[in-house]
Amino acid sequence: MRKLLLYLFISFFTITSTQAQQPKKPNASEIFESLKKLNFLGSVLYVAAHPDDENTRLISYMANHVKARTAYLSLTRGDGGQNLIGPEIRELLGVIRTQELLAARRTDGGEQRFTRANDFGYSKHPDETLAIWNKEEVLSDVVLAIRQFKPDIIINRFDHRSPGTTHGHHTSSAMLSVEAFDLANNPSIYPEQVKKHGTWQPNREFFNTSWWFYGSQEKFDKADKSKLLNFDIGTYYASNGLSNTEIASLSRSQHKSQGFGNTGTRGSQQEYIELIKGEIPKDKNNIFEGIDTTWNRVSGGNAIGNILYQVEKDFDFTNPSASIPELLKAYQRIEKLEDNHWKQIKSEEIKNLIYNCAGLYLEAAAENNHATANETVHLNIELINRASENVQLKTLQINNETPLLEEKTLVKNEKIGLKKSFSVKKDQEPTTPYWLTKKGTLGMYQVNDKSWIGKPETPRYFNVTFGLNIQGIAISYTKPIIYKTNDPVKGEVYKPFEIITEASAKIAEKVIIFENDKPKEIPVLVKAGRDNLEGFVEIAYPNGWSVFPEKQKFAIANKGQEQTLIFTIIPPKNQSEGLITPMVHVADKTYTKELIEMEYDHIPFQTVLLPSESKIVRLDIQKKGENIAYIEGAGDVIPESLQQIGYNVVTIKPEDINTETLSKFDAVVVGIRAYNTVEALKFKQQILFDFVANGGNMIVQYNTNRRLKTEQLAPYSLTLSRDRVTDENAKVTLLKPEHELLNFPNKITEKDFEGWTQERGLYFPDKWSKEFTPILSMHDKGESAKKGSLLVAKHGKGYYIYTGLSFFREFPAGVSGAYRLFANMLSIGKENIHAVNTIKN
Ligand SMILES: [Zn+2]
Repeated sequence: MRKLLLYLFISFFTITSTQAQQPKKPNASEIFESLKKLNFLGSVLYVAAHPDDENTRLISYMANHVKARTAYLSLTRGDGGQNLIGPEIRELLGVIRTQELLAARRTDGGEQRFTRANDFGYSKHPDETLAIWNKEEVLSDVVLAIRQFKPDIIINRFDHRSPGTTHGHHTSSAMLSVEAFDLANNPSIYPEQVKKHGTWQPNREFFNTSWWFYGSQEKFDKADKSKLLNFDIGTYYASNGLSNTEIASLSRSQHKSQGFGNTGTRGSQQEYIELIKGEIPKDKNNIFEGIDTTWNRVSGGNAIGNILYQVEKDFDFTNPSASIPELLKAYQRIEKLEDNHWKQIKSEEIKNLIYNCAGLYLEAAAENNHATANETVHLNIELINRASENVQLKTLQINNETPLLEEKTLVKNEKIGLKKSFSVKKDQEPTTPYWLTKKGTLGMYQVNDKSWIGKPETPRYFNVTFGLNIQGIAISYTKPIIYKTNDPVKGEVYKPFEIITEASAKIAEKVIIFENDKPKEIPVLVKAGRDNLEGFVEIAYPNGWSVFPEKQKFAIANKGQEQTLIFTIIPPKNQSEGLITPMVHVADKTYTKELIEMEYDHIPFQTVLLPSESKIVRLDIQKKGENIAYIEGAGDVIPESLQQIGYNVVTIKPEDINTETLSKFDAVVVGIRAYNTVEALKFKQQILFDFVANGGNMIVQYNTNRRLKTEQLAPYSLTLSRDRVTDENAKVTLLKPEHELLNFPNKITEKDFEGWTQERGLYFPDKWSKEFTPILSMHDKGESAKKGSLLVAKHGKGYYIYTGLSFFREFPAGVSGAYRLFANMLSIGKENIHAVNTIKN
């Protein structure tokens, strides 16, 4: 009893630490929980498609209550999503969301895996998904995940039997998981994997169902539940003072880029899973029924269990180090296990337990978070043993080189500081997310080193291995080299140690639009990765364009500093597009990459090298009107994009929308999902419609049909639907080729719909009153024609336009047809613009 009280008393909760990079420093109750986990030999693999698909309640329950090794296999890294916390999209968003998944797993106790599949955007059907992904490669990655992780249980987030009812990636994840369940144990399938990892037959596979899939709670209550298992995932963990559902919310809240902040709930709550493969357990609460999850599972495990179950019983919360002698005995036996799979896992777990019971702290910190090839890196090494155990340092091994003899006794609670250094190899490649080093396809990342497939991050090459002797037993610990500093506000800040190139360059604008043949001056930022960097920069550019001057010299004194060089880009006379890349020449080397750094508190500092390139587009574009008012919605790049084609764009706040302000503008553009996100707009609609009646143009971009802040989207009736056209190459039919919108001032043809990216559009209206004229028709394969993508209505002297076309995706990609069409939308009815202006003035 005394133990239990103490146990509750000393439970400090550390999950909420805001610094994702700091090493874990578990307290006694956390150590005890990992001891219980050491004594459980069973695994669960959860499978879905995207970061944020995973059910963190169930993952946390399996990891923390059942104590199973629990991993989430997310087929993609979520590149196709939106970013609510910063400007990063696509690959860089994928890097952020990878790290958000890792942060979620640090919170709920799971592990994280991926495949090479790329989140290319919304997909209606698994047929389309599996045609764009390389199905064979993704399937082989799922089979690999099963053979490496060796789960007893697989749980799919989605139903493999309902294609077309959810995102095609979702259904595909479940279909591939079901297929892989049957293949993983077949040695003739992907035999090269079998050589390294063997085969594996999981015991059961489930679908993580809920009442929602049955249509209603009522229908679910009546449904046959003979194939369902259920768990109370609201269980309370006295060891950390949290309900499982509270941990799940903390975990879910790591998906900050998706705006998934989540408030914890408490109390009993049932979670259901439906058996789809294997035998149904008799005990509907025991997912592992019939599977030996004790130490008896492995040959030679019995003796280990005898030691470790006793350690669990005798665990002293006031002195965890009392467990060390028995843990060492068990460690030696684990090292002799024949079962390589469990040997590796349990060896790592028990080593960490010994480390934590001894209050050991081993760290190797570099003096900077970046170094370049050939640089000498100085390390501050810290070692401390805070237990009475006899601990000695025997060797230090830096970056897996030959170990250095370094005999020191770690006297209780006396810190040892060592200074070491190493030279980065001359030909050392820079560190960057491994899946981004080679250009992939729309659906797949290309990974050259096959041993990295599935890994969440590039394995850390720079590390220090501490060869210790604890009570006469050799145990080594490998720690990645880190950088740490003190931030006056945040306190101790950790950053990963990375290798960068000695020079990098970037052009801030990723798309540069030339609306006529006037040259533009483009700043190129050169950044030094080391001191005293000198060289010159030239620009690679497409045929028909020219750049002046041809080369420019630069000289930068200090590492980390930048120098700006201005180049003049001269466009051709006619419509043309291509890429420009700054090339930095230093001695005999040429650098063409851009260094991108991302700093967010919930994930470790990220360093990414990507090809430095910007798209240049010479548009054949005419336009009328000058001043555009922009009302912000959920975030798009309308202001920058329209400025690029020569408009004067002013962002106005909802509270500033009034007749007088609007009278200065030719048109108002409403940002994407503004009527879903901006409450105040509902009071401003009449003023906006009056502006249109008085001769202004109003362009409203897509909104979702759920949670609209107003029913009155337009001056005439208009009903939003979920119609979308996800094939960016879907044929576009001009319903009214003679309409002003398609002729003035730019003649729009089918050619203007070439080269679109990711999709045509979404949430098109499917009903509208007769005042509206539908301009375009398009549809995805096998669907009926959708005519609501671009609707225009004359209202008084002006025009109201509603469009679900994805201008927010096409503008950042520099799609010329999208710019030309948008210019027409702004220009409609403005033939006599100058006359109107004269009267106004
Ligand atoms: Zn998803």
